[in-house]
Amino acid sequence: MTDFGNIIGPTDGRRRWGRAQNRAFTDPYKSLKKPLEPTVCPQCGAVYHGGRWQWAERPPHAHEEICQACRRINDNFPAGLITLFGSSLREHKEEILQIIQNQERIEKAEHPFNRIMKIDEEADKLVVTTTDIHLPRRIGESLKSALHGELTFDYEEDAYFVRVSWKCSD
Ligand SMILES: [Zn+2]
Repeated sequence: MTDFGNIIGPTDGRRRWGRAQNRAFTDPYKSLKKPLEPTVCPQCGAVYHGGRWQWAERPPHAHEEICQACRRINDNFPAGLITLFGSSLREHKEEILQIIQNQERIEKAEHPFNRIMKIDEEADKLVVTTTDIHLPRRIGESLKSALHGELTFDYEEDAYFVRVSWKCSD
């Protein structure tokens, strides 16, 4: 008998910072149970249909369930964080914001759970939080290819979380 308990993820579904349980990099916000077909998220309108979540017209008689991205947004519990800093950040701010929004648009179209939660402006930094661990990398790589600078990644070894930082070149 194989015990899948450690592979699937935390059985209580809420141990977000669980350690050993998250070895397989499972997002603890992901439902362990497949939604019924079709299901719609009443908050963002994403539709579960044909075995996957997608952007689609709301099907008639759909079940409702708040999706994992909206649950993260409601809990204010990001899976990814990218910090942008550097002395010339201000000078490139418009372009940077455009790159960030553009990358989100592309990623989110394909993957409804990969979204920006917030873009916070602090003194000389911009801090962007996301609902997933892929979007920060995508944004970072795209900033680097457009404006160079220094990019670093820090994946948590035992949690579903990534921290990216990008230093704008002078
Ligand atoms: Zn949603």
